[in-house]
Amino acid sequence: MSDCLFCKIRDGQIPAKLVMRDDRCIAFEDINPQAPTHVLVIPKEHHVTVGALAVADPGLLGEVVEATSAVARQEGLVSDGADEPGYRLVTNTGPEAGQTVFHVHVHVLGGRGMGWPPWPAG
Ligand code: 5GP
Ligand code: ZN
Repeated sequence: MSDCLFCKIRDGQIPAKLVMRDDRCIAFEDINPQAPTHVLVIPKEHHVTVGALAVADPGLLGEVVEATSAVARQEGLVSDGADEPGYRLVTNTGPEAGQTVFHVHVHVLGGRGMGWPPWPAG
């Protein structure tokens, strides 16, 4: 997709702080972090939403999730054999949910306590 921000990051046309890459995914720091660790994991291939990716290539969706897990370990959010301190994965779908970039991405958030439910009360 020629007009996609994350395709441009993938292609190196827009700079980003890469934290991980493998055959089919890349991970980079969010430009506006909402937690001490805030990394975005994307498939290199352009898909719009997580649902669209699940239909088009469920194996690739699995690789994206695996990459989030690798990022969480690398960033010290979990250690081998312990899911602690922990982290949160967020994938917004559509404008009402807050999706602003229409190349599927998973937010990996950690380094602070996360509230639940994830929206302000009232
Ligand atoms: P969404 O709102 O679609 O769930 O998430 C898009 C994310 O992309 C936001 O958290 C936003 O801060 C991040 N973002 C937007 N533009 C850029 C950019 O140019 N570089 C990086 N690294 N992140 C960006
Ligand atoms: Zn794209």
